[in-house]
Amino acid sequence: MIPSVLPTYNRAPLAFVKGEGSWLETADGRRFLDMGAGIAVNVLGHAAPELVATLTEQAQRLWHVSNLYQIPQQEKLAEMLVEHSFADTVFFTNSGTEAAELAIKMARKYWSSKGEDRSEIITFEGAFHGRSTGAISAVPHAEKMVKGFGPLLPGFTQLPWADHDALTAAVSDKTAAILIEPVQGEGGIRPVPDQCLKGLRDLCERTGALLIFDEVQCGVGRTGKLFAHEWSGITPDIMMVAKGIGGGFPLGAVLATEEAASGMVAGTHGSTYGGNPLGCAVGGKVMEIVTDPAFLEQVNARAGFLRQKLEGLIAAHPDTFESVRGTGLMLGLKCKRAPTDLVAAAYDQALLTVPAADNVLRLLPALNISEADLAEAVQRLDAAATQLET
Ligand SMILES: *Cc1c(COP(=O)(O)O)cnc(C)c1O
Repeated sequence: MIPSVLPTYNRAPLAFVKGEGSWLETADGRRFLDMGAGIAVNVLGHAAPELVATLTEQAQRLWHVSNLYQIPQQEKLAEMLVEHSFADTVFFTNSGTEAAELAIKMARKYWSSKGEDRSEIITFEGAFHGRSTGAISAVPHAEKMVKGFGPLLPGFTQLPWADHDALTAAVSDKTAAILIEPVQGEGGIRPVPDQCLKGLRDLCERTGALLIFDEVQCGVGRTGKLFAHEWSGITPDIMMVAKGIGGGFPLGAVLATEEAASGMVAGTHGSTYGGNPLGCAVGGKVMEIVTDPAFLEQVNARAGFLRQKLEGLIAAHPDTFESVRGTGLMLGLKCKRAPTDLVAAAYDQALLTVPAADNVLRLLPALNISEADLAEAVQRLDAAATQLET
């Protein structure tokens, strides 16, 4: 008999009833150290007091009003995002995949509103942009996600990873946009080198194609800058954000330049819940905290600390681990065995990690995790590796 919850997930036999900072607790009192943070969502840890206060205060006043009316919390958060990014304007969604939908629509609308027939969108192998029909169509090579769901949305070309010649050959006067994660998350924590992001920007300048960054996983302080692309010094035309922006409350956003957004006039897009007062109040508090230079400095310091500990771990377990990659607190351990085995062994050590493609174990802790908790996490990973080796 089918379970009452549609069985689309491979869930671990673990249920948590309470969280505090980087720790989660089961009903029978077992405490787990959380190095996944809801897959890069709980940027300030669980039950962050500032977010709890903001959410409850807003909940006592007003939960929901329609986008038929002005929503001051939305305006405030949009202004913060504009102030701290390349963008001139923001649309709020409830998730990353909805942000992908709008990014795709916006790029196509941009060209159609200019009277040009440019609808092709270029994406890359290993990419992940969500599970809506548009988002899976963007990644047609990912058989597990697309098989049986066709006909897919046409107009996507998925190119091999890091193949400059294929990219140059693929971009034409039919290309509406290039869509890329500055650091691939699901694909196995693969950062796009800064000079390649610069090259992409140049290519877009030459051909007119819009540059769309998917920062759903790598954005919001994760890499030690507010947005990952800031390390490269270049900016996109459109950017998707979600996961971390709500600190655990469902919230996403599409940021865009005035030019890229010029086709999106009244009536062209909408969302019932998108940008509701609860989500935007919490998002505003998250932004207030993560844009503090001292906060980002601390993320970088913690990232350096974790990386160094992981180098030690790799040296101690050369048969299990190969290398560490990624930036900031978005790190991946390339494994010499199935990362799912390590995730399972880590459960036995009361440690939560996340597998990814390309044999990578992901570490995406809360951005305010303590050094002591990071050291503890590496010790538990060490124990998990030892358990598998013996
Ligand atoms: C998680 C993710 C998405 C999809 O976000 P949802 O909120 O699950 O719809 C899109 N892009 C990237 C890079 C992601 O990591």
